[in-house]
Amino acid sequence: MIQHDVVIVGAGLAGMRCALEVCKDMDVGVLTKVYPSRSHSGAAQGGIAASLGNVESDSWEEHMYDTIKGGDFLNDQDAVEEYVKAAPNVIYELEHMGCIFSRTADGKIAQRSFGGHSKPRACFSADRTGHAILHALHEQLMKNSKSVKIYNEWYMHSLIVEDGRCNGVVVSNIQTGEVEVIQAKAVVFATGGYGRVYNITSNAFAGTADGGMAAFEAGIPLEDTEFVQFHPSGLYRQGILFSEAARGEGGYLLNGKGERFMEKYAPSRMELAPRDIVARAEQSEINAGRGVDGKDIIHLDLRHLGKDRIMERLPQIRQLGIDFIGVDCITDCLPIQPTAHYSMGGIPTDKYSHVILDEQGTRLNGFFAAGECACVSVHGGNRLGTNSLLDAVVFGERAGKSVLDYALNIDYADVNEGQEKARVLKKIEDVFQRDGSECYEDIRNEMKKIMMSHCGVFRDEEKLKVCIDTLKDLQERYKKGKVTDKGKLFNTEIYEIIELGNMLSMAQVIAFAALHRQESRGGHFRTDFPKRDDEKFLHHSMVYGSPDGMIVKKKPVVITKHQPAERTY
Ligand SMILES: Cc1cc2nc3c(=O)[nH]c(=O)nc-3n(C[C@H](O)[C@H](O)[C@H](O)COP(=O)(O)OP(=O)(O)OC[C@H]3O[C@@H](n4cnc5c(N)ncnc54)[C@H](O)[C@@H]3O)c2cc1C
Repeated sequence: MIQHDVVIVGAGLAGMRCALEVCKDMDVGVLTKVYPSRSHSGAAQGGIAASLGNVESDSWEEHMYDTIKGGDFLNDQDAVEEYVKAAPNVIYELEHMGCIFSRTADGKIAQRSFGGHSKPRACFSADRTGHAILHALHEQLMKNSKSVKIYNEWYMHSLIVEDGRCNGVVVSNIQTGEVEVIQAKAVVFATGGYGRVYNITSNAFAGTADGGMAAFEAGIPLEDTEFVQFHPSGLYRQGILFSEAARGEGGYLLNGKGERFMEKYAPSRMELAPRDIVARAEQSEINAGRGVDGKDIIHLDLRHLGKDRIMERLPQIRQLGIDFIGVDCITDCLPIQPTAHYSMGGIPTDKYSHVILDEQGTRLNGFFAAGECACVSVHGGNRLGTNSLLDAVVFGERAGKSVLDYALNIDYADVNEGQEKARVLKKIEDVFQRDGSECYEDIRNEMKKIMMSHCGVFRDEEKLKVCIDTLKDLQERYKKGKVTDKGKLFNTEIYEIIELGNMLSMAQVIAFAALHRQESRGGHFRTDFPKRDDEKFLHHSMVYGSPDGMIVKKKPVVITKHQPAERTY
């Protein structure tokens, strides 16, 4: 059995920032199924928010209000306040760690505009911000290699929970196929989002809900999963992201008639309204037959920005267009459509990153979560651009501090290694033994398509019911698949199958929560209930598993400074 004081699953921004904190006083194992610098955080383009006020005067109060309004008043405001107050120091700390930020002419950290932010607040490294931060953190972690061991390309299967305490995880070494138990005094999940359940998504292949599902299977509810963010500018049919920075720098959105249609939907903020509003506007134009060439296409027009600005501020976007579809945005419009981008919901935590078990906030000892897999909730019903990298760093650090508070003076609890291992080995063996005729690839594609068409930008009761029935059917078919690679070494097929199992379960949680929220708020839009309904639904939803199926309960929203108001832009 492997032993570490603390084990962290995930080596994106949240996991690595947490590890840097914990390794000051304890020994840490960081587990990641992809090499750390391949974590999805590295794909983040546009920026990280902080009210530095380097371009225009700004304050944490304004950042707080923008975040709450952007989240359609579902955010827990006590958590938002602490988070936006922490932001400026986070930026300076990252800078001192070696993260290179773009600069203003007088040498300050440059800041640009982003959707829903009333001030230019996004600090950035051209359009490769996540890459710059992820590498800076990785370097720092390497520097601390005495107290940190990184398990590259190891897969976490399940949590070990006994007598109300979390004592470790069961994992596989992907290279050898060996299953191992890691015993720990505390476990942190920083496993990222689950956008891969959708057909069109900006998310990396690793975004498959493993963390959420391991928690759910251990009896922990999932919070606000109905809130999935669709980003307005995914590359047509592929979903690859063209950052909102493109609009932050002044890009236009055009329909098939060449009109800047955002005039109709958000006259004051235009292309820089929050993402849920822009994505719905695009989908409405497409549904009304005003897509480009009659297809599901909207045009992102950057031509008027000119070559110099594009090369300085948006070089990656330009290259993506050239590499993937042969379109150069200096001379032509980029074809885009809404793409599944961010999971507002996830594993419920309090503002100290402790995972909670119920609406009363009862903590599960020894279990913490941070970053996109967690729901604090600072983003409410819709996250503003650049607030997520900030979330990952702020709450990654917090989780680290909370872990030290909790674990410094306690001993390991007993773990029944044989039993824990046997459970996972049986699950893997069951997959190997299946000899059915179903094709996992077909099941995966059908899941992604039904989620996109029936639980996407627009939803209604009928569609959601069809979606849930289809997912149940797919789950039955999933049991009748067949593995082609029966080997143990580097058998990536087996992990893809396990990930698909996780996604099928997560998709059902999303659709179930969406069915129960009979209102429209933030990223969740019900055409049969098109208005926000604060009387009935100003609460977080908590979905629990039970022997008779899922149930949903209500958790109150923490409101401190800002009473819910109409959300117009
Ligand atoms: C294309 C794109 C652009 C974005 N741009 C921005 C932006 O400009 N600004 C902004 O604020 N936000 C942006 N976001 C969102 C932001 O990048 C993410 O929300 C954030 O980086 C998530 O960080 P994380 O540390 O929580 O997870 P990730 O960086 O996703 O890391 C997850 C980690 O968990 C590990 N893991 C998962 N499951 C397992 C398992 N079973 N076993 C072992 N390891 C596992 C993975 O290997 C990985 O290391 C963007 C997102 C995308 C997709």
